[in-house]
Amino acid sequence: MIKISERGRFCAVCGTMNGPFLDNLCEKCYKKENPLKIKKLDSLQVEICYECGTLRILGNRVDTWKRDENLEEIIREVARSAIIEKLEVDTPLQYEFEDDIEESKIMNYGVKEFATSTRVYAKPHEDFSEFEESFTTRLKMHRTVCDECSKYKTGYYEAILQVRGEDRKLTEKEEEDIEALIERMMKQYEDARMAYILDLDVDQDGITATVSTKFLAESLAKEIKGISAGKITVAYEHKTTSRDGTDVFTNTYLVRLPIFSKGDVLEYDKILWVVKSVSEQQIKMESLENREIRQHDRKRVEKRGRKKNDEIVMREYMIVSKEINAVVIMAMDNYENYEDNLERLPPKKEEGENITGFIYDDRNYYLE
Ligand SMILES: [Zn+2]
Ligand SMILES: [Zn+2]
Repeated sequence: MIKISERGRFCAVCGTMNGPFLDNLCEKCYKKENPLKIKKLDSLQVEICYECGTLRILGNRVDTWKRDENLEEIIREVARSAIIEKLEVDTPLQYEFEDDIEESKIMNYGVKEFATSTRVYAKPHEDFSEFEESFTTRLKMHRTVCDECSKYKTGYYEAILQVRGEDRKLTEKEEEDIEALIERMMKQYEDARMAYILDLDVDQDGITATVSTKFLAESLAKEIKGISAGKITVAYEHKTTSRDGTDVFTNTYLVRLPIFSKGDVLEYDKILWVVKSVSEQQIKMESLENREIRQHDRKRVEKRGRKKNDEIVMREYMIVSKEINAVVIMAMDNYENYEDNLERLPPKKEEGENITGFIYDDRNYYLE
């Protein structure tokens, strides 16, 4: 390479003697012969989903719901990176962008075309001023329904979620709690793609839901297991037909709730207990003989405990008088008074207060 600014030299093309020179050319002629080698992006297609706002640009999905910026900012950012990527240059460049993108024009007025003008510049030679190129890229907006939203519209789903009781129906409380849990979780997924429940049925078998994705069904199943100490089993690849007639393979996530649940009356170790709570390994029960609360091994209780819910007859009582060892109780249905042991009563009950309980095998028991 010949050194720039030699005295008495002239430009090989235009003949000027005003330096500096590079490769025997003045700045103007050198720039003409050696423009910035860039690939200019003329136009860019931007697909925007009506339903979920997802963008598709150059074959890539951009999930707008994950981001904090508004649509306008996202389009701008994505368009700029597409323009820069297209340039394919080795030398470090600087850019300036200007555009007329306006979110409200896209969303409210259906404006289909915007423009981004790009000025690219670089300074590869110290003695020459900046090299510069400018061009305009047309941004063409297409409002459409993305693949995933169209799946939803055609009733596509990948999984079934079932909640059942072990040899029993779900209690009303369980149904309510689980429905509320599902509702709460779906609120969290409100803006997520492909997270929806097509149908949710609550009937005598339990709760059944058709769920968009296996991931979502599994997450829901785990949460339900978490609040119920149930067990999850998965049946893979049940083939079903979606509403639009195509075959899909679905997984069925079954949450089986424990055989005993809160409030059940059990006979275990020859006395009656009321179930307070059930966890994965243990079952917490209160003795109806002396109000002692104990943790038992869940498996053991499930094996030997006998549920008495169907054999008991509910009854109302009132405490007539309360001594240290004995209390006088009145049954509210026949006003009969009788004595019982204080330790069999729920704690903190005073004279004159009512108690709910039941009669079983000719004996009175007190719940609360
Ligand atoms: Zn020249
Ligand atoms: Zn969509």
